[in-house]
Parts: sequence; structure tokens; C-alpha cells
Amino acid sequence: MKAHDGMYIDGEWRAAAGRDTIAVLNPVDEQLIDHVPAGTAEDVDAAVRAARAALPAWAATPPAERAAKLAALRDGLLARKDEIAATISAELGAPLPFAQAVQTGLPIAVAGSYADLAASYAFEEKIGNSTVHLEPVGVVGAITPWNYPLHQIVNKVAPALAAGCTVVLKPAEDTPLTAQLFAEAVHDIGLPAGVFNLVTGLGPVAGQALAEHDGVDLVSFTGSTAVGRQIGATAGAAVKRVALELGGKSANVILPSADLAKAVNVGVANVMGNSGQTCSAWTRMLVHADQYDEAVELASAAAAKYTVGDRVGPLVNAKQLTRVRGYIDKGVEEGARIVAGGSEAPLERGYYVAPTVFADVTPEMTIAQEEIFGPVVSLIRYEDEDDALRIANGTVYGLAGAVWAGDEAEAVAFARRMDTGQVDINGGRFNPLAPFGGYKQSGVGRELGVHGLTEYLQTKSLQF
Ligand code: NAD
Repeated sequence: MKAHDGMYIDGEWRAAAGRDTIAVLNPVDEQLIDHVPAGTAEDVDAAVRAARAALPAWAATPPAERAAKLAALRDGLLARKDEIAATISAELGAPLPFAQAVQTGLPIAVAGSYADLAASYAFEEKIGNSTVHLEPVGVVGAITPWNYPLHQIVNKVAPALAAGCTVVLKPAEDTPLTAQLFAEAVHDIGLPAGVFNLVTGLGPVAGQALAEHDGVDLVSFTGSTAVGRQIGATAGAAVKRVALELGGKSANVILPSADLAKAVNVGVANVMGNSGQTCSAWTRMLVHADQYDEAVELASAAAAKYTVGDRVGPLVNAKQLTRVRGYIDKGVEEGARIVAGGSEAPLERGYYVAPTVFADVTPEMTIAQEEIFGPVVSLIRYEDEDDALRIANGTVYGLAGAVWAGDEAEAVAFARRMDTGQVDINGGRFNPLAPFGGYKQSGVGRELGVHGLTEYLQTKSLQF
């Protein structure tokens, strides 16, 4: 695909207000792929005005018609799935099979789920002498990260459109080509002009202008906690709705009765997928003291199977590479022991980090507290269940996690005491209809399924 040199505003590709551009690189070989325009506050303003103008008619469109548009969008994305996967693979560096199955297949399914939900959801309910109407919140400003370029866009845009909201999207600067492909797919289904708008640009410029715009009713942000905190403060001051999907430091708790080899292998795979650039990754593996040495051996053997370049792609950019290497060095400095990988470059070219396993990690170490966002897993020893729970809950985050035990009830009892939004029991698989979002500083609000839809609705009660 050749990149568009404009913004998608009010149903057409328009020249950007400024002349600045953003270079899009392939992290595998560090070569330039293309440029996209760097939007300014002026572009954002034009997009928000278009979204506002389109709002009344789209909000009044019957849900069944909105559902039909979302079904057409799902079909349009499906028809372009190879181009999308190739684009994500190029700008993110994800190995093609992963780009196809997870990065592309999953969001297409999510788009379909919102076609179904728009058609079946009761946008009206009776409570005593009241009729409660669930109405769209209004204009949505969606700000997305690069780690799952299409998924993060669909997670926000599909429920917003299903609810009857209109949208301005500001995608991550590293992966704007996927966003342009998404805009093309939206254009092809003939959505009314202004219902969906795309402004590419830098976070502190276009992103900030969108978050601060008084024509935006709800800001939905996924990304770092630092930026999320700032966006939350801005939204709070303006008394506007905000949804934040932030970082994580999720615990993979392996109880003594668990199948240790399976729990360790699945746990390592969970971190290595997408090169560790997953906010819900189980980056802390908690193992009982009696099984710790065996788990360390299993984990280092498992990590060795993830060949760099083939199964594990690069990190998205040079900044992330420096950041992740810095964390690995910090782990060593603070006394943790590397049993696989390390901070040395595994390949001559590309932003690669070797799959890394740390042993002898204690709960207060930096690598056990902060989100690394790379293929790095830390094994932490616990003495008993209470100790495991204290460690699992002992970070500022609470996005996801896992519990493994011989008996499902035992795992569930532990999971119920964890301060986190999602827990996979004995390897339970990802459910794209289950609410996804964080406890504590992992965020505010939920995405996916019906819970994701209600984020974009507000209630109006009529009394009779
Ligand atoms: P980021 O928070 O800077 O970027 C996320 C999005 O926010 C991008 O679209 C960016 O352009 C935009 N943005 C940046 N500054 C902004 C501002 N001041 N106002 C409005 N929008 C702004 O994240 P990053 O720098 O790409 O990654 C840094 C770290 O964030 C990662 O190492 C990781 O720990 C975390 N992260 C988390 C997720 C997640 O899914 N929760 C995704 C990506 C990154």
C-alpha cells in the first residue's frame, strides 16, 4: 500500500494543514517504508467539527442500520486481511503468522461482535414508571498505541459506532499505515461523512489537541500510564468522560499442585508473543520455593526455543529497544540472575532483544515493578499462598494474570483474591467478548463485548 499524504476527514482524504511528516520505519531492517502527514491542532479541529456535524444523524440511525454498517466493515476488513497483516508485519515487525492470526484475525472478529451487539442490545429499558434510553455519549476522541495496531483501533471505533457515537482517531506514530487501511475500509462501506475521521500525528501535538478539544465528549486512550494520567487530568478538569487502558505487570501464579511444566511453558509463550509488547503479558512468574529451581530450568529451556527473527520479532522502534535493554541491565545491577537472553543485540540489524529470563528476582526490584514491554520474564519465589498473593497484588498495576492449580476450585479461590481485571485459570483462552480493563493504575473503564459498548452510552430516564 502507498501511504495517503492527507487526513481522512468528513468522508474524504484531505490535505493536511501543515507540511510536517512522520517517517514510518520497518523495525526488522530499520529501512524507511513511507511517510504520513503529522497532523496539527488545525487538522484535529477540522476532524472534530466534522464528527460533531455528523453526530445527530448517526445517533438517530436505527441500531439495526448501524449493525449492518459494522457487519459490512467486518467483511471489508476480512477482504483486506492479507494486506492488513502484511502492513502490520512491516510497520510493527510482527512475524507474519502472528500478524495474520492475532493482529488481524482477532480485531476482525471483534468488529463482527459489535455488528451482533448493535443488532441485539436493548438500547431502552423499563424501570418502574421510567423508560431509560441508552444514548450515545457523543463525539469520541480515540488515541491508540502501536502494539496491536488494528485491535486497539477496532476496540474503540467499533463499540463507539455501535453506540451511535462519531469518532476522531489519532493512531500511534509508529503504526499509522494500518490506521490508513482501516480508514479505507470505513470509506468503502459508505459510512456517512464525518462519522469516522482519522488524523495521524505526534502524541504531544495531535494527540494532546484531541484530548483537550472541547468538542470531544469522551476520550478513550490506550498507552502508557504517564500519558494516561495526563489525559485523565485534562478530561477531569473539563468534566468529560474518559476511558484509560494503561500498563500492566501481570502475575502468573503457579500453585504447588499445578502441572509445573505446562504452566511454565505457557507462561513463557505468553510473554514472548508480540515480543513482550502486550499490556496484559504475564511478566512476573510466581513459583513456590520448593519448585523454584526446576521452574527456572524449564523457563530457560522454553525461552531458548524462541528464535529471534523467526518466532520473536523486533521491538517497535529504537527508543523501545534502548528502554528494554536498560531494564535488563537494571535487573542485573539490582542482583537478579540472567538464565536466558540478556541485553546484547542478538542480530546485527533490527530492534531485536533476545528472549530473556531472570531468576532470583525479588518483588521490590525495578524489573518486578515496572512495565518493561519487551520479551523479558521474571521468576519470583514465594513461600506460601499468602506470600504469593501479597506479591501478585504488590504493584501499582492490575490488568491481567493467571493462576495454575491441580484443582480448578483452588485456582478460582486464589484468582478471586487478586486485584486485577482478568485472570486465566489453568490456561483458559482469551475471550474477545469478556470485559478487558484494569484495576488500580492499569486504567479506568472496560473494552470488548457488551461492557465495551456501554462505555460509549449514557442514560436518559423518562418518567411516566
Ligand atoms: P504513549 O503513551 O506515549 O503513546 C500511546 C498513544 O498516545 C500514541 O498514539 C501517542 O501518540 C499518544 N500520545 C503520546 N503523548 C500524548 C499526549 N501528551 N497527549 C495525547 N496523546 C499522546 O506510549 P509509547 O511511548 O508508545 O510507549 C511507552 C510505554 O507505554 C511502553 O513501553 C509501554 O510500557 C506502554 N504502552 C502500553 C500500551 C498498552 O497497551 N497498555 C501500549 C503501548 C505502550
